[in-house]
Amino acid sequence: MTPPHGAAFAPAPRFKVIVFQLIMMVKNNIVCEVCSSESAGKVSESFRASYNQTLVVLPSVEMYSCSQCGEKFFTPEQAKHVGKAVRVVVREQLGLLGPERIVEIRRKYGLSQERLEALLSLGSKVVTRWETGRVLQTKQADDLLRLIDKVPGVIDVLREIREESGHSRGSHRSALV
Ligand SMILES: [Zn+2]
Repeated sequence: MTPPHGAAFAPAPRFKVIVFQLIMMVKNNIVCEVCSSESAGKVSESFRASYNQTLVVLPSVEMYSCSQCGEKFFTPEQAKHVGKAVRVVVREQLGLLGPERIVEIRRKYGLSQERLEALLSLGSKVVTRWETGRVLQTKQADDLLRLIDKVPGVIDVLREIREESGHSRGSHRSALV
């Protein structure tokens, strides 16, 4: 009678645990984006970033570090998470209005996102991005939003300015024709 295949080499329980841990380590590693070896493991480190020229330091950020080439990188998911964390810190550091406050100010004057973009000479979808929190308004734009909020006449002045610049562009164009 021969024992079942491999039975003679059944590892001791402790060895089993070590093998299990090694497998887990290998499984947690992902392919390095630079050297393509499967040696990139998850680490948490401090991370410096700059947003609209504001420097922030996040004390603990999850990223991958490659033990082969030393490269550190983010997965798309991690990058998204870091981007969000950076915006939270910058918003706090600069004391910027939150997305919900921007919505409130805009609605107070019955403006659509497109209309507010036009009044502030902003590009398409900029207000949409502020209101979803995907993009932070600059400190200057934040000041202007606060001015609009606190001084009701400001929005009318902005309308006049847009009309004036619209007219001057119009007259300039007609002068050329
Ligand atoms: Zn590598």
